Amino acid sequence: MVHKMETLGYSQDNLSPIMSKLTMDFHYGKHYNAYVTNLNKLIEGTEFADMPLNEIIVKSEGGIFNNAAQASNHGLFFTQLTPQGLQTKEGKLYEAIISTFGSFDELRIQMSKVAKTLFGSGWVWLASKDGKLEIKSGSNAYTPLVDGMKPLMAIDVWEHAYYLDYQNRRPDYVDAIWDILDWKVISKRFE
Ligand code: MN
Repeated sequence: MVHKMETLGYSQDNLSPIMSKLTMDFHYGKHYNAYVTNLNKLIEGTEFADMPLNEIIVKSEGGIFNNAAQASNHGLFFTQLTPQGLQTKEGKLYEAIISTFGSFDELRIQMSKVAKTLFGSGWVWLASKDGKLEIKSGSNAYTPLVDGMKPLMAIDVWEHAYYLDYQNRRPDYVDAIWDILDWKVISKRFE
């Protein structure tokens, strides 16, 4: 099975200034592309060759895990974005956010704090299991799939996600990304 990159529902220069075209060229066009390309090379002729991506992630380790998880993480990351942002004030996910965190703002505050303070490269996720929400985070290629949870929304805190636009100001990037999230897409992952 040849794994492919997720295509974008927006143009690469439309997320500017929150994410510039230059960042998209490198992050989507080169980093994400490389994870998918490497994964396809690494699984060739192995037991993982015909496995769905999510199954590879839970069954592999080392280089295959890293590239499979990064392929999945970036697919989820880039498809959850939209130029103007889209916040839904209704639906199952919105209700779960209110009952878990008290308010949408409180989710934003708690998740942003984790993203601003996670040491080194990694991912911060809003994840779910059996309809229950949790903020999860981890280093490198971490995905909630390894904890048996469903990944809903991601903040990529690898430097390649923000350095061209924000240099060392990770907090500014974390605060800004909330304005380009597509909660319609994220809600569908929950349901
Ligand atoms: Mn990335």
